[in-house]
Amino acid sequence: MIPAEAQQPKTVNVGPVILLGAPGAGKGTQAKAIAARYGIPQVSTGDLLRDNVLRGSELGRAAQAYMDRGELVPDALVFDMLRARLGNVDCNRGFILDGFPRNQAQAEWLDKLLRDRFFSEACWVAPIVLSFTVEYNGLLQRLTGRRSCPACGRIYNIHTQPPKVAGVCDVDGAKLVMRQDDTEDVISERLKVYEEMSLPLRQYYARQGRLVEVDGNRPQAEVTALAWHALDEHARSGEPHIC
Ligand code: AMP
Repeated sequence: MIPAEAQQPKTVNVGPVILLGAPGAGKGTQAKAIAARYGIPQVSTGDLLRDNVLRGSELGRAAQAYMDRGELVPDALVFDMLRARLGNVDCNRGFILDGFPRNQAQAEWLDKLLRDRFFSEACWVAPIVLSFTVEYNGLLQRLTGRRSCPACGRIYNIHTQPPKVAGVCDVDGAKLVMRQDDTEDVISERLKVYEEMSLPLRQYYARQGRLVEVDGNRPQAEVTALAWHALDEHARSGEPHIC
């Protein structure tokens, strides 16, 4: 259990936070807990893309076929979308990236963006990277059981964290939905894509001393406590210097 005091929003600056982890590793859930504590927004490239698909935008139409197959959307499309989102004022104190970067080219692009656009050379803020690892069967169970509320975004799992009334959100009574790409054949493609890029990406950040590994197999509240602890330490070190 996380003490109530620890759940109060923190005024410390953590700067940009990157969450790495396979689909189903709990990035979305942990991003929400981090957002609540540090007062910085969750920026999920998957959510942004799904929103574009729903609205039928040009980007959405271009991205949909890749997403339906569980493949990565081409970098150029994702870059334009993310550059615009990170330019919003709510990202000035920092942000939580969930689902980005997915490969080394994206990681390098992000470093350059942070240097050029957000901070001057003198006070550029290197992101801290939390990598959540969860064993394969755990991922499958989480993905096939995942349901979310289209109204408030709350995430449930029919096996491990069901709503009080089956199929209905506890908070607002909306009918829960399953993501289109949480079907078994698409899931295996998404996990394969993640596996291929995971090691090089983690090595990229480990070489720069920014990677913190978090055991995502543990109960959700414990994972949150580990993540918060790592971010508090990072903030205490004075590294995330916002100008
Ligand atoms: P997610 O919600 O993070 O699991 O992402 C869902 C889908 O959106 C992925 O399977 C990809 O098709 C696409 N997507 C999300 N983030 C990225 C990214 N950083 N690069 C390329 N495609 C992405």
